Amino acid sequence: MKVTKRKGVSKVYSTSDLKKREDSLAKSDLVKKTCNCGRVVERVKRDAEWVICWECVARACPPPIVKVKEVKVDDGFITGWRWMKQFVHRDGRVFEKGIENEKLKNTLDPTPPKEKKKRLSRFEREEKEKLKQEKLAKKYKKKQEVLKKKEKKLAKNIKPNKFWEAS
Ligand SMILES: [Zn+2]
Repeated sequence: MKVTKRKGVSKVYSTSDLKKREDSLAKSDLVKKTCNCGRVVERVKRDAEWVICWECVARACPPPIVKVKEVKVDDGFITGWRWMKQFVHRDGRVFEKGIENEKLKNTLDPTPPKEKKKRLSRFEREEKEKLKQEKLAKKYKKKQEVLKKKEKKLAKNIKPNKFWEAS
């Protein structure tokens, strides 16, 4: 409930009444206006200075960027051919560290393409990691044993409490 006073007359409005009144006010405040392009835009606030229609907005925006996926063309070169000591293209050209050696053209067999590495499953990857860790642990243990032996040998060679006897 809300009490509004106007010109000394007090009237009681229920909240729903107030809302209805506000809605009708808002509706009467919305008018049709014309965009620069001539398109009529409905439901524009009366006090708006100008209006722009959806088409003009769309025209003003840059078009969405569409990424074109690059398609790799098989040109006969394999990855890393530039760094290989010798790479023989299937057309007979011979490259040495990326530089063509014309003297050897058509004299060698083309370099076979590299086999793609098989992607391991999660289980296989985990197993591989486990093996790696075990190997490392073994290596560490061996190293420690060698160090211990060395220390023992050193301890044997150093004879304490004897240096004064020599002099
Ligand atoms: Zn327009």
